[in-house]
This record gives sequence, C-alpha cells and structure tokens, in this order.
Amino acid sequence: MPVGGRKQAPVVIEEEMAVVASTISGRTSELPAMWNRMLEPRVLRDYGSGGFARLAALQGGESLEWCYGCGKCVPVCPVDLVGEYGPRKLHRKVQSGVDLLADDDLWLCTTCMNCLRVCPKQVDMIKVMPAARGAAVGAGEVPTELQDVFEKTFRYGNCLGENPRRRHAWTRGAGVPVRVLADQPGPVDVLFYVEDYWSYHPRGQQAAQAFARVLTALGVDFAILGAEEKTVGDSQRLAGEAGLFEALMEDVAATLGRYDFRRIVTPDPHGFNALVKEYPKHGHRYEVLHYTQLLAPLVEQMPFAASLERTVTFHDPCYLGRHNGEYDAPRTLLEAIPGIRLVEMGRCRENGYCCGGGGGGMWLDGFTSNHTAERLSERRVREAAETGADILAVCCPYEVSRFEDAAKSTGNDHLQVRDIVELLDEAMRGHGEG
Ligand code: SF4
Ligand code: SF4
Repeated sequence: MPVGGRKQAPVVIEEEMAVVASTISGRTSELPAMWNRMLEPRVLRDYGSGGFARLAALQGGESLEWCYGCGKCVPVCPVDLVGEYGPRKLHRKVQSGVDLLADDDLWLCTTCMNCLRVCPKQVDMIKVMPAARGAAVGAGEVPTELQDVFEKTFRYGNCLGENPRRRHAWTRGAGVPVRVLADQPGPVDVLFYVEDYWSYHPRGQQAAQAFARVLTALGVDFAILGAEEKTVGDSQRLAGEAGLFEALMEDVAATLGRYDFRRIVTPDPHGFNALVKEYPKHGHRYEVLHYTQLLAPLVEQMPFAASLERTVTFHDPCYLGRHNGEYDAPRTLLEAIPGIRLVEMGRCRENGYCCGGGGGGMWLDGFTSNHTAERLSERRVREAAETGADILAVCCPYEVSRFEDAAKSTGNDHLQVRDIVELLDEAMRGHGEG
C-alpha cells in the first residue's frame, strides 16, 4: 500500500450484535458491538518499511527501526527543546514514508547522546546519523556550509582553512617557551595536541597560551607538533565524512609514530573522543587525557596568587561528559580556584544540555536556524544566566565563541564566557580581585 505521509484511516468492522461461533465447541454466542469489533482482522495503520530497510542496509543505521515509541528521548533531546525533532519523531517520519537521506532532519542531530542514555531499545543516533549522513555525502547531498568545512579540512588539515604553517603562531604570545618537536626532538612526557580552535581562533589561542603558562608553572614537560599537527577530525566523521576521517587518522598516526612521548593531552573533547574510542579500532593506541584530567590531580601544587571572587556555572561538554564519563575533573579544578563559587545549572552532568556544536553542528548554525526557534547555544546561555552566575566556564574549544555570540544575542552581555584554564591562569598569575 502507498505510504508517503498519507495516513489511512482504519476500516472499522462492527455490527450492532454479532453471532460468534466457537471453533472448538461449535457453540455460538451473541456479542455487542464494543466486543465484536475486536474479532475481525483490520489494518490500523498502513506503514511502509522501505525507509528502515534502506537505513538498515547502512552499517550503523539499523537501530532506528527498533524504536517502539515510548517517547523518553523527546524531552531530553536538546533540539526538540527549541524545535520539532527527536528520535521518536524521526522514527515516525521514516515510518510514514519520509526519506531521511533527503530530509533536512538528517543534519539537525548534534550526536549529544542524551537520547541513547534514556532509550530502552538502544536506538543509537550516534551510529544512525553518521551512517545516514555518509550515504547523503556519497550522493552529494550536503549542506553547503558543511561541504565547505570538509573541503577546508581536506586541503589544509584544519576545519578553518587556515595555513598549516601558522598552527603554532599562538605560541609567540604565551610568555613562556613552547617546544615544537620537529625543532627540538627527543623524549617528552606530554604531547599537547592543540587541535583547530585553540590553534587558530583568537579566543582559543588565549586559552592555549594560558594552558602553556599553567603547564610551565607546574613544571610539566610538554611539547607540541606545530605545523605537523592536523585535526583528528571526529566531528567530520560524525557529520558523514568517514573517508576524510580515516585519511586524517592515518596522517596523524604516522606523525605521532615519529615522536617519543608518554601521553597525549588535548583540550578538545571531540579529538579526545576519537583518540580514545576510534583510533584503537584501527590499531592506534595511546594514553590520552583531556587537559582537565591532567590538571585535576595537580591542584594541590598550583601556586594560586589571587582570589577571583566570582560566581561560576559550568557547562558539561557532551563529548567529555556523556560520551566519556568525565564530569568531576572540570569541577575539581573550578572548586580549587580561590574565591570561586560554583553553582550548577538544572541540566548538568549526565543530563547536560548540548551547546549545538557536536556532530558537525558547529558548522551548521545557518542551516539549523531555519528549523529551530533559537540556537541551542542561546538556550544554554539563558539557563546559565538564570543561575545568577557572572561567568559561564567551559572546557571545550567549540564553546567559547558559540556562547559569547549567544550571550550577546540573548542580551546577557554581563555573562562572561571563560575556559577553565583561563581562570586557573588568572588566579595563578595573581590577576584576581582578592
Ligand atoms: S527512547 Fe528509544 S524507544 Fe523510546 S521513543 Fe525514543 S528512540 Fe523510541
Ligand atoms: S543525539 Fe542528542 S541531538 Fe541527536 S537525537 Fe539524540 S538527544 Fe537529540
């Protein structure tokens, strides 16, 4: 039967009184309408399974069909909170004939994982979305802004299309020496994998400089790859470019193979996620820490020189928290800073609200804005402002610019957005108010 979104009303077969014969004893009974309508076979809905079959043929696309419509995912989906979206709604659309590969909904999911956390059927959007998007990418059906990022990443090894030779330009403003391994080879304890936004974005560069100063103050032996570094590419993978991700991975692994380091430390939860979960699947195994995990055990050694006297709320990055289970290291750092009072937002830790940047969302704000009443980052900034905090602390390089823009557009200019490492650096250098 045809589907295509046109639902067919059920045909009710019902008589005022029906005589029903038992198939065993042959005895007959009379049944009134409310009962006899249940005895005839009838079609309640006439749905097609073709959409699910197409998805199930893609590796990772199988689980959307497993949905049984309990609806638990919808209220926790950050996109549904500002729009009309969620795995159950997506399941319903595919069920009624919508082709997901050609639908705008394909690009709305940020792969934040909050639905998988509550789904009793293990409908896994973290696998469904990359699989479906990969098929759309293969067919050339990609939003222009995302295609632009794929091309920049392919050509320059970073999503911003910046010159690879300028990757470590930020070190000039750090105020401390930063060793580049190609220039000063030899064993090193910490390989600081800077990633794109801390390398090139002006606000990210400030955080990278702060991190270099904090590491130096703590006596940590560290170095960077400089111009040899390329993005790990996890968000490109989740946005559907698995081929690009794998090519980057081979380049990154080859570069890492040339140097002698004990552990990799990165500020980027997305890069962290791929190094911890994806690289080992291809035989590339390293000890990897998020920068907050490196610093949290060192708080007793931090030479704080000032009390900051600020009220701070903290935004859990999806790819550090829900995806990798780290909720405490950032809080340990914030609570160690003299004069900081930490207040939590209602949605925090396991139920943290997504900033909208994951899974390629970082590059799809224009596209997404046609489908949402407000940006996810704007929604989150309003939640942060409601706590009464004067600082929104973050520890993901995607978030600073997203939230700073959102603070302006929602009229919350008083809310400062600071990376945790900037606050640590400020308190250690004695620039606080105390
Ligand atoms: S939580 Fe899972 S089973 Fe329930 S409606 Fe959502 S996707 Fe379907
Ligand atoms: S992963 Fe996040 S954004 Fe995507 S459907 Fe699930 S809850 Fe919504």
